[in-house]
Amino acid sequence: MPLTDDELDRYARHLVLPQVGGVGQQRLKGANIAIVGAGGIGAGAIPALAGAGVGRLTIIDGDHVDLSNLQRQPLYRTDDVGQPKAHLAAAFVAERNPHVAVTPIAERITPANAAVLLANHDLILDGTDNFATRLLVSDTSTRLGVPLLSAAAQQFQGQVALFRGHEQGRPCYRCFVGDAFDADDCDTCAELGVLGALTGTVGSFAALLAIRIIAGIAPDAAGTLHLFDGLSLTWRRLNLVADPSCRTCGSTDMTDG
Ligand SMILES: [Zn+2]
Repeated sequence: MPLTDDELDRYARHLVLPQVGGVGQQRLKGANIAIVGAGGIGAGAIPALAGAGVGRLTIIDGDHVDLSNLQRQPLYRTDDVGQPKAHLAAAFVAERNPHVAVTPIAERITPANAAVLLANHDLILDGTDNFATRLLVSDTSTRLGVPLLSAAAQQFQGQVALFRGHEQGRPCYRCFVGDAFDADDCDTCAELGVLGALTGTVGSFAALLAIRIIAGIAPDAAGTLHLFDGLSLTWRRLNLVADPSCRTCGSTDMTDG
């Protein structure tokens, strides 16, 4: 898939980076990323991924823009209140980069549709804001064998991690948070608050990891949790471990009880 003259100009600042170059840019062009949630995290990640030339983006979000979203979701304008986020985000991508094929899915992700919506992607970026959905997306990604970039932000704290739970001995998101939250459908962001610029920082960092993974820039450090504190302005890293008894990725056979 050779790059056109327009693409050579558009991605000139990538092409001169030895870690990206023509090979990395073509990998980006050939990639297909699913983004679950076009809220604060998605609004940080989507412009970066579109600008970087990821060839195909699927944007899954069943919500409509609410006035309280505008404090942290720069994809949307005041006039967009009441409109479906997936379609607005897709229109933004199309205007930002016509080389990106974008598919909006204006539906909430559920156990009934998750596998169909997330199949046939190279990477899933989850920026949703409740544990039940995050565990559903994680379990689905593990079963499909698709790597998961999980990103979240609340109050002043952000966290991002890449999971390859489908690979032997690597943790999945469920190994990290456990089974206690499957019924937790509350909107933690609404309950606890979140600083507006934090979600953009975390979403943009998630996009940086996605671009590194797809372009093959560096070892992808699956299982490393990146934590950002917006009060102390520090990043920390924690190594997560696989839970052998994890009901999604675990090696222990639990069926005999
Ligand atoms: Zn697991």
